[in-house]
Amino acid sequence: MITDSKAQIIAAELEIKNSETLGYTKIKKIEAFVVSHQLEQSFYFSQWEYDRRLICLVKITLEDGTYGWGEGYGPAKVIKEGIEFFKPLLIGQNPLENENLWQKMYLRSLDYGRRGIFLSAISALDVALWDLKGKLLNLPVSVLLGGRKREKIKAYATGMYFSKCNNLDQKLAKEAYSYKKRGFKAMKMKVGLSIKEDIKNVEAVREAIGYDVELMIDSNHAFSLKEALHLCRKVEKFEINWFEEPLSPEEYDNYFYLRQNTSIPIAGGECEYLRYGFLHLFQSKSVDIAQPDICAAGGLTEVKKIGCMAQTFGVEVVPHTWGTGIAVSAALHLISNWDITPGRLHTPVPMIELDLTENPLRDELITPCFVVEDGMIEVPHKPGLGVEVDEIELKKYLL
Ligand code: MG
Repeated sequence: MITDSKAQIIAAELEIKNSETLGYTKIKKIEAFVVSHQLEQSFYFSQWEYDRRLICLVKITLEDGTYGWGEGYGPAKVIKEGIEFFKPLLIGQNPLENENLWQKMYLRSLDYGRRGIFLSAISALDVALWDLKGKLLNLPVSVLLGGRKREKIKAYATGMYFSKCNNLDQKLAKEAYSYKKRGFKAMKMKVGLSIKEDIKNVEAVREAIGYDVELMIDSNHAFSLKEALHLCRKVEKFEINWFEEPLSPEEYDNYFYLRQNTSIPIAGGECEYLRYGFLHLFQSKSVDIAQPDICAAGGLTEVKKIGCMAQTFGVEVVPHTWGTGIAVSAALHLISNWDITPGRLHTPVPMIELDLTENPLRDELITPCFVVEDGMIEVPHKPGLGVEVDEIELKKYLL
C-alpha cells in the first residue's frame, strides 16, 4: 500500500529524475527592458507620426544562468508593466512547461485582458520561453515546433511610409526601386493619405518596379467601406497582391462585403488577438490573408494554433512582423514550420515581413543581423531563436 508520504517521496524523486534527464533548472529572474531611439527623420502613416522607436524586450534567466529573449509588440512601457504583472506566476517554474505557463498567464488575465497589452506581455514571455527551451534542448525553435519544412523564407520589404516632402510619389518610387535593386521580389507601401494621392503614389511605385515584383498596399484601417471600394477599383489594374487593413478591424461584415466586391485579396489581423479573435475573423470570412503578430497575438504557442485554424478555413497566413531581430527570428522559425495548403509538388514559398525603415534597435542590438539574398532570408540554425542580444549595445538604448 502506498501511503501519502510515500507517494510524496515518489513524486519528489520523479521530479528530480525529470529535472536531471531533461537538464532544466527553474526560472530565477525576469527582466523587462524598454529600448528607445530618436529617429533622424520622422515618418508617418495614416494614423500617426513616428519620431522615435520604442520596444520592450524581456530576458528570462534560469538558476543555472541559461537565458532566453522575447519581445512584445505595442506600447513598450505598458508592456513592461504587463510583464511585471505576470512575473510572480513564472518565477520558480519549469521553463520546459511553456504551454502550461502560457495557460497560467492567460487565465490570470482573462477577466480584463482578452485583447491588447496583456497579450503582448504574454507573447513576449512566451517567445522568451521558446528561446530558452531551444537552448536547454540544444534545438532550434523551428524543430521544437514540429520541424523545418523550408530553410529560406521569402522576405517582403515593408517601407514606403509617408514623409513631408514635395513629389512624394517620386520619392516612394525611388525607394521602391532601391528595394528591387536589393533583390526583394515583393514589397508593401502605405496608402491612406487620400484616395487621389494614394492612386498617384501606387501608380508611380508600380511604374518604378515593373510587374515582376509583388506589390501590396496597407492603409492601417484608414478608410470607410465606400472609400475602400473606390480605391480598390482605381488600383486593381496595378496588380495589387493584397490590400492590408482597408477598414477598421472592428468592421467584420464590411470586410466581407469588400472581399466580395474586389479582385484584390484582402489582408488583416495585426490588431487581432488569440485564436478566439481569429476565429471571429475567419468565421466572418473577412480576409484572404491573416496577419497575426507573434509578439502580440499570443506568442509562438498561440500563433501556431491560429495558423492551424486558418488552414481549416483555407486562409493564408503571413505574420505581421515589426521590431527587432527577436521578432523576425520568431517569425522565421514559425513560417519554416508552416504547412502550406493546398499541398502540391511546388507549393508557393511563404513570406515574412521585413521592416526596412530606420531602426538601429533592429540593426545593432541583435546578432547576427539578417541578410537578404536574392529576396530570401535563411532560418537560423542555432539553438532557440538563434539570435543574441548585444547587452553592451542594449545599455546604450535603455530608456
Ligand atoms: Mg499593416
